[in-house]
Amino acid sequence: MPPSTSLQGRLRLGQHDAEALAERFGTPLYVYDRALIESRYRSLDAAFSGLRHRICYAVKANSNLAVLQLLAHLGAGFDIVSGGELARVVAAGGDPGKVVFSGVGKSPAEIEEALRLGIHCFNVESAAELDLIASIAAARGVLAPVSLRVNPDVDAGTHPYISTGLRDNKFGVPIEEALALYRHAAAQPYLRVTGIDCHIGSQLVSVQPFVDALQRVMHLVDQLAEHDIHLGHVDIGGGLGVSYRGEQPPSAQDYVEALRPQFHGRQLQIICEPGRWLVADAGTLLTRVLCLKDNGDRHFAVVDAAMNDLLRPALYGAWMQIRETGDVAAEERLYDVVGPVCESADHLGKDRLLRLRAGSLLAVMQAGAYGFSMSSNYNTRPRPAEVMVDADQVYLVRRRETLADLMHGETLLPLTAAKE
Ligand SMILES: *Cc1c(COP(=O)(O)O)cnc(C)c1O
Repeated sequence: MPPSTSLQGRLRLGQHDAEALAERFGTPLYVYDRALIESRYRSLDAAFSGLRHRICYAVKANSNLAVLQLLAHLGAGFDIVSGGELARVVAAGGDPGKVVFSGVGKSPAEIEEALRLGIHCFNVESAAELDLIASIAAARGVLAPVSLRVNPDVDAGTHPYISTGLRDNKFGVPIEEALALYRHAAAQPYLRVTGIDCHIGSQLVSVQPFVDALQRVMHLVDQLAEHDIHLGHVDIGGGLGVSYRGEQPPSAQDYVEALRPQFHGRQLQIICEPGRWLVADAGTLLTRVLCLKDNGDRHFAVVDAAMNDLLRPALYGAWMQIRETGDVAAEERLYDVVGPVCESADHLGKDRLLRLRAGSLLAVMQAGAYGFSMSSNYNTRPRPAEVMVDADQVYLVRRRETLADLMHGETLLPLTAAKE
């Protein structure tokens, strides 16, 4: 059930009253709705029907173990970018055989662990990485499954920080160099070429860049076949957008139907790596107003969540909807909603028309993706608790950090008493 407003004007998350959740678990608090994640997964899976496909959830969007567990339970594979994410997938009961390993800088230890666990493939991002994987596989006497991440040089039309498919960014192998690298890979005794991958950016709200990129990729697939390199899968990456502020991203159905013709008559498995689209709408960050203050003619609402809890507004200038949750007796004003962190960039939203007083509860919407997973302990702030609502149940899926958690592993120096 999407977030809704009750008859009394109070925000409900699934079947639960936001204020009651905040009182029970404290704030700031991330709330995820199991039903929304599940329905997203099922609708994408259904859209792919008739195509041999695998949905590999991009773990970095939200790596809470319960979220991974839920998706594994639904049959998902996973797109990972570190050994840490691989460990999370395994801890959550995910199948390493359904894991694709992306990222421009995989360490030897991470490669070894992925080989040991038998992942589906490495999405290789450079010639140097290909050789590193080959040498580690040779030393262990195993075959490493590899797929090249090609950079098709299409403009995804998103924020420069989240666009990855253009020639001048660090991701992937330029598509015109890929043929030579595939031939090199195919000649290595300890590499098995399994597929091809491209991920062109995030928060795309039109299908056209996906179609353009896939067209270029399929052209390369055909060229490879002429050189007797036959691929098993095409990975179309992630990037499907959500509606933060009235954007109208394609539905799962529209997305798949736009790509389907290019798979016609081919024996290729299609892999996709959605992150944001599966989890953004299912998550809400609840935060309480600590105080209201005015500086000159600007009104500030200082809340207990900050950029360390939710970085997107400070990092990308991302606009996220901030809603009142009830209790709206006060006068309406334009507020900058800011956190307590000592950085001018620290804000959750600017110029928001809200009715607030100290103690009011606010909800930052669409916070399920790149929310908690980008959080930090900057300013020695314990990170929020995370709960999952599931019909009439609520599960605490990550307890709030304590100050002891934050100092864990640190040691003091053996200083002797200071001289006079
Ligand atoms: C981040 C990322 C994704 C997921 O992107 P979304 O925009 O969240 O769907 C998929 N694949 C790769 C390689 C990524 O880096």
